[in-house]
This record gives sequence, structure tokens and C-alpha cells, in this order.
Amino acid sequence: MKALVYDGTRDVKVKDVPDARIERPTDVLVRITTTNICGSDLHMYEGRTDMETGRVLGHENMGEVIAVGDGIDRVRVGDLVCLPFNISCGFCRNCEAGKTAYCLTTNPDPRMAGAAYGFAGMGPHNGGQAELLRVPYGDHNCLILPEEARERQSDYVMLSDVFPTGWHATELAGLRAGESIVIYGAGPVGLMAALSANLKGAGKVMVVDRHPDRLALAGQIGAIPIDDSKGSAVDRVNDLTNGAGADRGCECVGYQAHDVEGVEHPNATLNNLVHSVRFTGGIGVVGVFVPQDPNSPDSLYQDGEVAFDYGLHWFKGQTMGTGQCNVKAYNRQLCGLIEQGKARPSWIVSHELPLAEAPSGYRHFDARDDGWTKVLLHPAA
Ligand code: NAD
Ligand code: ZN
Repeated sequence: MKALVYDGTRDVKVKDVPDARIERPTDVLVRITTTNICGSDLHMYEGRTDMETGRVLGHENMGEVIAVGDGIDRVRVGDLVCLPFNISCGFCRNCEAGKTAYCLTTNPDPRMAGAAYGFAGMGPHNGGQAELLRVPYGDHNCLILPEEARERQSDYVMLSDVFPTGWHATELAGLRAGESIVIYGAGPVGLMAALSANLKGAGKVMVVDRHPDRLALAGQIGAIPIDDSKGSAVDRVNDLTNGAGADRGCECVGYQAHDVEGVEHPNATLNNLVHSVRFTGGIGVVGVFVPQDPNSPDSLYQDGEVAFDYGLHWFKGQTMGTGQCNVKAYNRQLCGLIEQGKARPSWIVSHELPLAEAPSGYRHFDARDDGWTKVLLHPAA
């Protein structure tokens, strides 16, 4: 089959690789129809992980079931399915508690919890930027989509990651109807956090970035865009909230945040959040802060240290929730919002390309070239 493989730093290629196939009775085999490039793929692409060459990338996948193992009861050949990026078992302690991002079964590294398709450190599983994908524990890991999803793939594919992740950011922040919220990062995840805030009935929604095209997308759904290249985002948020600070805040950038002039701490976003969220307010952090150091296999977390004003965070009595999104926990709800026409997450899609053009898609998305917000790949095209 054709697949997009990692070949080294900023080097991905479409190659012929052995077909994905059913390996265990609980597997499902999916022919991928739509698969996205994600900001998280850039951690591997930019060479910041120990991703081995030859691995197939891609964790935002949907497609049609073409074969099922003998132990599969629920999913049927012909079903159109979306695949949460977390690969989980459904029966371990964390999965039982709904924390499928921290599955204790699917990652063979005993120091880790949680697995994903085509992701460094998240188990050996291949990704779905390919013609075929093997889905472990298929009855658990396939979200069966309504028939109309065939014609609206660019909406439904967002259920694999960015829509639930944006929603998760607002959950971690504790957002309630009518409250104000500031979101750092207007990439796909931050834009989905803004959409989620709207859907939850937030009051004022403010989105910070410096790319005009991304800020414009935030403006399209009624959020207030804040360009931090034009002045302090913290001051602007405080002005917009009568000096009190936002009720809630979300971090949707991660450790690759650009420097903000005049900020004393190396990670501007966490520090800005502490300064622009009110006393007793809540902060949700979904941006990734634990890159693996490729030169240090013994220390998975070595590069994860960041500094921010913890004293002020404590003094303000703020709460902070963190971590990967447990996609399954939100999937049915968010699928319902798409089906009812109440959410149209495809508004962020900028490009839809055949798999053969994936390397160019990576190049433009990585460079944050103007207008390259979200790239969808169609392996069957
Ligand atoms: P992205 O890189 O496309 O978007 C990040 C945006 O943040 C960019 O538009 C950039 O201009 C902006 N930015 C950079 N520095 C900033 C700063 N100091 N202040 C404000 N904005 C700043 O990525 P994405 O796809 O939107 O993903 C965002 C983060 O979320 C990444 O770290 C990704 O790995 C992570 N992520 C986490 C989960 C999860 O489960 N927790 C899931 C998906 C993605
Ligand atoms: Zn993703």
C-alpha cells in the first residue's frame, strides 16, 4: 500500500510499504478516506522526537471498514468510522475511568501510559496517512458514523482529535455558560477550543496568535482576535475584562511557542495565562510539553521543564488542568452536534490533497505559510 513515512528531519515521503492487515482477532482493518496533518505531527517532522525512520505517520483518521477479526462483535464491514487518536483497550483501570488517553494496555513501554497511531513514544502503531490502517481493539476504538458523514468527511474527521481536544481544553479550564475565556494559539486546536466555548455558551471569547489568517478564522465565529505582535496580549485581555482577567483560559500552543517580547519566562503562554486569568479562575493546558529528547532514551521527560510564575498562580487560587484528550469521552456528544448542524468544524480546513501531495502539505503547514491552517489528505483520491 501507499503510505507517508517519516524519513528523517523535515523529510517525509510517500512509499510502498507492506499492507496493514488484521493481526489479532480484536483488530479491524480500515480503508482510509480522510486523514489530517496535525500540529502534533510537527513534533516528529521537525526532528524533536526519537521517531524511527520508516514509520507511517497520521493519527487523525477516518475511513471505511473492509475487514474485521473473529473477535469483533459490534463493528461491521462497510461501516464508516472515525478513529480517536488514542488507541485504548477499554478494560484497564484508566480506560474504565474514561481516561482512555492513559490506557495501560496499548503502550508496551512500562514507563508510559497511552498510545496513538503513528506517534513517537506512543507505542509501535503505524499511522493512517496511508491507504489502510489496522485498528487494535476495534470494537472499542471505532466511532461508527451516521450515513450522512460520507458527504461531510471534513466535518466528521475532526472527531479524531482536534474538535474533542479543543473541547477538552475548555473542560479542563472549567468553562461554564456566560463566562469569558482567553485561548492562546489559533492553530486548529485553539480554533476548536473557541468553537467549543461558543457551543458551551461562553460570554466573551478571546483568541491570541500572530498569524492574521488564523486570527481571521477566530473572528469568523465571533471570537475577539488578539494579535500579540502588536502589543501585550495580557494587557489586552485585562482591558477587555475591566481589569479582572478572563474567567477561564486555554493553552493550545505547547512548548514550541514563539517568544513574546518583554516576557521574563521562557514559556510565554503559561505565564500569560496566569497573568490574564482572574483570581480563582481555571486554566486548561492541551498544548504538548513533553517532547522526547532523541539523545536521551532514559529520560522521557527531560525537555519538559518550563518556568512560569507559579507564585502568582498560587496566590490567585487558580486551577490548572492538563494532559492529552480522552477523545472517546466526548466523541458521541460532539458527533451529535455535527449531525444536528450545530457544529461545523470544517470551517478551519484550508487544503484537501491526495496522499501523493502530503510532503508538500507538511512543508507548507510546518512553515505556517499564509492560509495553510488545516490540511486533509485523501489516500483514495
Ligand atoms: P499549530 O502549531 O498549528 O498551532 C499553534 C498556534 O500557536 C500557531 O498558530 C502559533 O502561531 C501560535 N503560537 C505560537 N506561540 C504563541 C504564543 N506565544 N502565544 C499565542 N499563540 C502562539 O498546532 P495545533 O495543531 O493547533 O496544536 C497545538 C498544540 O496542541 C500542539 O502542541 C499539539 O501537539 C497539541 N495537541 C494536543 C493534544 C492533546 O490531546 N492534548 C491533541 C492535539 C494537539
Ligand atoms: Zn492531532
